[in-house]
Amino acid sequence: MNTTDSALPVNFIQNIISDDLKIGKNGGRVHTRFPPEPNGYLHIGHAKSICLNFGLAVANGGITNLRFDDTNPSKEEVEYVESIQTDVKWLGFDWEDRMFYASDYFEEIYEYAVELIKAGKAYVCDLSAQEIRDYRGTLTEAGKDSPYRNRSIEENLDLFTRMRAGEFADGTRVLRAKIDMASPNLNMRDPVLYRILRSSHHRTGDAWCIYPMYDYAHPISDSFEDITHSICTLEFADHRPLYDWCLDALPLESYPRKVAGRPQQIEFARLNLSYTVMSKRKLRELVEKDYVSGWDDPRMPTISGLRRRGYTPAAIRDFCDRIGVAKRNSTVDIALLEHCIREDLNINAARVMAVLRPLKVIIDNYPEGQVEWLDAENNPENPEMGSRKIPFSRELFIEQEDFMENPPKKFFRLTPGGEIRLKSAYIIKCEKVIKDEQSGEVMELHCSYDPDSKSGGATAGRKIKGTSHWVSASHAIPAEVRLYEQLFLVENPDEEAEGSDYKANLNPNSIECLKNCMLEPGVAADSASHYQFLRQGYFCVDSVDSSPEALVFNRIVSLRDSWAKIQKKG
Ligand code: ATP
Ligand code: MG
Repeated sequence: MNTTDSALPVNFIQNIISDDLKIGKNGGRVHTRFPPEPNGYLHIGHAKSICLNFGLAVANGGITNLRFDDTNPSKEEVEYVESIQTDVKWLGFDWEDRMFYASDYFEEIYEYAVELIKAGKAYVCDLSAQEIRDYRGTLTEAGKDSPYRNRSIEENLDLFTRMRAGEFADGTRVLRAKIDMASPNLNMRDPVLYRILRSSHHRTGDAWCIYPMYDYAHPISDSFEDITHSICTLEFADHRPLYDWCLDALPLESYPRKVAGRPQQIEFARLNLSYTVMSKRKLRELVEKDYVSGWDDPRMPTISGLRRRGYTPAAIRDFCDRIGVAKRNSTVDIALLEHCIREDLNINAARVMAVLRPLKVIIDNYPEGQVEWLDAENNPENPEMGSRKIPFSRELFIEQEDFMENPPKKFFRLTPGGEIRLKSAYIIKCEKVIKDEQSGEVMELHCSYDPDSKSGGATAGRKIKGTSHWVSASHAIPAEVRLYEQLFLVENPDEEAEGSDYKANLNPNSIECLKNCMLEPGVAADSASHYQFLRQGYFCVDSVDSSPEALVFNRIVSLRDSWAKIQKKG
C-alpha cells in the first residue's frame, strides 16, 4: 500500500517533520513560527517563509506563531508591526491568539544571561567593537582570548547589573558567551550576547539600555514558545551551533511554558527573483528617496505592492508552492510569478472591453440616438461566469493602433476602405478618415456597419481577418490606466556596476500613465474586482489613488505569458 499522504507538501523539511512524527519526537507536536523583524514591509521572499511555516504546520496538524523579532530598537516601528499583520492575514494565514514579541521576553532573556554568568559561561568584555573584531581571528587563524575573559563571576555579575542600570556609555562594554576563541566556526568565538544601546524601543520604551543579540534571543524565544521546527534561511546555517549551544547552556526547563522537546533549527534557500531587489534596506531606500511612491507602490515586490497591483493571495501561494524549498540558493524567474497570476485570473477574471488609447468612430448609417444592448460572454474559459449586455451606438471608440492609414502587409485591422469585426457586435467598414489639418493626426473615422453581421444575422459568418475591442462613446467610463514594466532593467540588479550601486539599474520607464482610457460601462471600481481587458492584459482598480470621480486602474500583467512559452520550448 502506498502510504505517502498526497496532502503533505513535498520538500526536505516535510521529510524531517515526518521522521520526527514517526518517532514521536516533541510529543507528536508540530509548532512553527514566522519571526519578522519589524523594520520594513514584508516582501515576496517573506511570503515564501510564511507559506512554508504556516503551510507545514497546517499540513501536519500543527500551529504557527507570529513573533516580532524586535531586539533591534533603532530600526523598528509600529507602522511595520501593523503592516506585517495585515499582510500575513491577507495571504490567508492565521496565528490565532499566538502573536508574540521577542521584547515580551526581555526580562527572562536577561535573567538567563545572569544564569550564564553564574555558570561561568558568559563574561563582560571591555574591548571596543574594533578590538573584538581584531581578536576574533580569521577562517584560517584562531582568535585570541579577550583579556577580560577570566573575570570572576562576582565581577561579571556586578558589571552586567551596572550595564543594565545604565552606568556605562553605549558601546563601552558587551556581554559575551565564553565558548571557544579557536573554534573553526567564527560564530562560536565568544559571540556577543548583549550590547549597550540607548535607543527607545517601540514597546518597552526606555526601560532598557541593553539589548540582546538575535543569535541569543532567538533560541530562547523559540524555546519559550515551544517551537519544534525553527525554519530560517541558509545564511543562518553557520549560526546553528550557537543556537544549539544556547539551548544546551540555558536552564530553559525552568520556564513555565516549557513542554516536551526542544526546537530544531532548519535552514532553506531564500527566494531571489529576477529583476528584483529583496533586501529591506534597499526597498526602504527606494521608498525614502522617492524612487517609488511608497512601500505599496505597485512596482514593489512587497506584499502590499503586489496586493495593490492586483495580485491575489491564491496566486502568491501558488507561486510559493511551485518554487519549492531548496537547500541551495538560486534565482527564480519573475515570469513564473506573472504566470501564476495569469493562471488564476484566466479562469476567475471577467473579460471586458476597455480602450486605452481611444480613436473616435462614427457609424454614419446607424440611427442617431439608437442603443442596442448586445450579449457578450464574460469568460469563455469559465462558462459559469455567464454573460452581460453591452451597449452599441452610433459613436464608438476603438484603439488607435487598430487603425492604420498606410498599413504594412498583413495588417489585419482597420484601414481606409477596409473592414473589421467589432467583438460581440457588427462588422464595420472605414469610409472616411478625418485628420487634423495642421498636424495630420487622425481625429476620427467615419464608418458604415453591416446590419446583418451581428451574431445570428445573415452575414454573421462573413470572413473578416481582424476583430477589435470597442466601447460605446456615450456609455463609456473614463479612467486612468497605469501600465508597468519591471522596476529594474537587468536580471540581477544587486550586481552592482563599478562606481554605481543597484539604483543605476532602475528602469526609467517602469510606469506609464494613460489618462484618457474608456472602459465599458458596468466595470466595477472596487479593488476586489479583477478584469481581463480584452487584448490588453489583466487589470484591477488602484486601491490608493482611484476614486469614484477619477478611476485609476493598474495593469497587473499583460497577456503575453513568457513563462508558458519557456515551458513549451523546454
Ligand atoms: P532583510 O535582510 O531584507 O532585512 P530579513 O531576512 O532580515 O530580511 P526578517 O524580517 O528577519 O527579514 O525575516 C523574517 C523571516 O523571513 C525570516 O525567517 C527570514 O528567514 C525569512 N525571509 C526573509 N527574506 C526571505 C527570502 N528572500 N526568502 C525566504 N525567506 C525569507
Ligand atoms: Mg532578519
